[in-house]
Amino acid sequence: MTQLTKSGSFTVMTTSATPLVALRDVNKHFGDLHVLKDINLEIDQGEVVVVIGPSGSGKSTLCRTINRLETIDSGSIQIEGVELPKEGKELAQLRAKVGMVFQSFNLFAHRTVIDNVMLGPMKVRGIKKPEAKNRAMELLKRVGVGNQAQKYPAQLSGGQQQRVAIARALAMDPKVMLFDEPTSALDPEMINEVLDVMTDLAKGGMTMIVVTHEMGFARKAADRVVFMADGAIVEEAEPDTFFTNPTSSRAKDFLSKLI
Ligand code: ADP
Ligand code: MG
Repeated sequence: MTQLTKSGSFTVMTTSATPLVALRDVNKHFGDLHVLKDINLEIDQGEVVVVIGPSGSGKSTLCRTINRLETIDSGSIQIEGVELPKEGKELAQLRAKVGMVFQSFNLFAHRTVIDNVMLGPMKVRGIKKPEAKNRAMELLKRVGVGNQAQKYPAQLSGGQQQRVAIARALAMDPKVMLFDEPTSALDPEMINEVLDVMTDLAKGGMTMIVVTHEMGFARKAADRVVFMADGAIVEEAEPDTFFTNPTSSRAKDFLSKLI
């Protein structure tokens, strides 16, 4: 919506921001299983949305539809107001705006850490090698693994590998970062080193969608908590409200079972 507003002595034209990511009436089936049910979700620039819910509720599928690793049956998904294309170059371009970090780090095992971070920008975005290398090094330092650049993924701890995976996603200059249970495969002592990187990213203004069971992170970093059950968004609220005063019986039940 475009409107005229008074700002000091000037009248300026402002356009109320298009959501960065918008899902409208999204439905998805796997055979007979209705796995996403009329999902409506808008994520604004700079917003951190944490998605929680029981196993099997559709959280991963939701993430995967947002960069079209999964197709949808009906509804629409827009990024910066542009409908996700079905395939081809346009899809690759739009997909590059969505960085994804999975539970299993998915690094290229036969490439060094720095190569893992450089390859995407060189292949997909046509960045020249020296620039890609500088930027990769910067990002590896930012996530605290600058001194591991020449090693292979298997030589790193799980927490370090996941931080490399975050650097690799950031190297594509995404508009939004999706995290699907990024700490679930980690030994407990490594969880915080990954959550700290994510918290820094959130503070730095990155738009993030995070599926996690780490309620401490949700309380601290989320602008909004989205609770899913059985393929539907059952409840959405600011973390304080959600954790202290959930309204749905599903959310109450879910929270009561957390240690
Ligand atoms: P969550 O991430 O919340 O645990 P998922 O999105 O992984 O949930 O799964 C939602 C439901 O869809 C589950 O019942 C799961 O078994 C099913 N499912 C997920 N992926 C597939 C697939 N590729 N084929 C068939 N069923 C699937
Ligand atoms: Mg999942």
